[in-house]
Amino acid sequence: SATENAPVFTRRTVPAANRIPAAQRSQRMRQPGFGRVLTEHMVTIRWSADLGWHDARLDPYQDLRLDPASVGLHHGQIVFEGLKAYSQPDGGVGVFRPDLASERLRRSARRLAMPELPESLFLAAITELVGADRDWVPATVGSSLYLRPVLLATESDLGLRPAREYLFLLIAFVTDNFFPGEVSPLTVWVSGDYVRAAPGGTGEAKTPGNYAGSLLPAQEAKARGCDQVVWLDAVERRWIEELGGMNLFFVYGPPDSPRLITPPLGGTILPGVTRDALITLARGSGYAVDEQPLSITEWRSAAEDGSMAETFACGTAAVVAPVGTVRSTEGEWQVGGGVSGPVTLGLRRALVDIQHGLSPDHHGWVFPV
Ligand code: PMP
Repeated sequence: SATENAPVFTRRTVPAANRIPAAQRSQRMRQPGFGRVLTEHMVTIRWSADLGWHDARLDPYQDLRLDPASVGLHHGQIVFEGLKAYSQPDGGVGVFRPDLASERLRRSARRLAMPELPESLFLAAITELVGADRDWVPATVGSSLYLRPVLLATESDLGLRPAREYLFLLIAFVTDNFFPGEVSPLTVWVSGDYVRAAPGGTGEAKTPGNYAGSLLPAQEAKARGCDQVVWLDAVERRWIEELGGMNLFFVYGPPDSPRLITPPLGGTILPGVTRDALITLARGSGYAVDEQPLSITEWRSAAEDGSMAETFACGTAAVVAPVGTVRSTEGEWQVGGGVSGPVTLGLRRALVDIQHGLSPDHHGWVFPV
């Protein structure tokens, strides 16, 4: 199999004379947004039922050629990932927990009846792309290179069954923090009308349909002055699940010995890599952390009686973002007076420092490229 016998990459890089000049690159990297400042190369690897994983390539960033009848375009047989590469103080580049991203991509692929890319190939693809686009990894703390792996069904046969041909794709873009203003607290909207994921559905897979379905609710949240949607469970419509692209933590008790609660992974929530890291860091700081359901009414009453001091969201894009205000059809409440709390900011700092190599990586989370 490809695991033992990883294909050699065919490398075609942008000729030095055609590369984007340093001054122009720095200019583009200044206010990069999210997914707008793409790097100059891409990786592709193909899979077919006959050949398995093959034809691994590093190429200049370019349009894809796809058969208009590709299964992925019609039936949404697509999964993806998101992880970041950070510049390190020694001048190198470190990728945060690519092993977990690789594992989640395989799990997402399994749910959509797709082939599983071996970890060795996933890591090799990252090494190829970051190596070629090293100049695009920002040096500033808080900025990074976001890596976007995608696995897409490319076979043109539209009978409703899993495809027999796939394309793995890795692209990268420069990003600073997802939310402008860094740690200004979010205002969130509790969605009463819509559901993100139901038991037995695809909620724990990172697949485009979950995100496409969230766009209209997010638009409505925005119209109500909110940054993000809070999703509730599909069955009882009272248990807090997550935000559209981030997991949630609730902080009780005094800041020197807090107790944290985060909703359990029951199949409808995306198992966040940041969530996993923060559970470990919080426990390492001596905080109690429970993976336990919390209802929307409990959230409101604990925030209002002051027993809950903070709420924060976490994910690869924004790392850690405080939640200050919650709005729903039942009314509005604030958490911790609507400002960033010390537990949120402390965990954020601890994680950012590990990602950027500013504090020791005791858990082996930073993969050097
Ligand atoms: N929930 C959802 C729905 C997401 O899309 C993401 C981003 N991948 C997260 C949570 C956070 O996951 P991670 O920490 O791995 O980025």
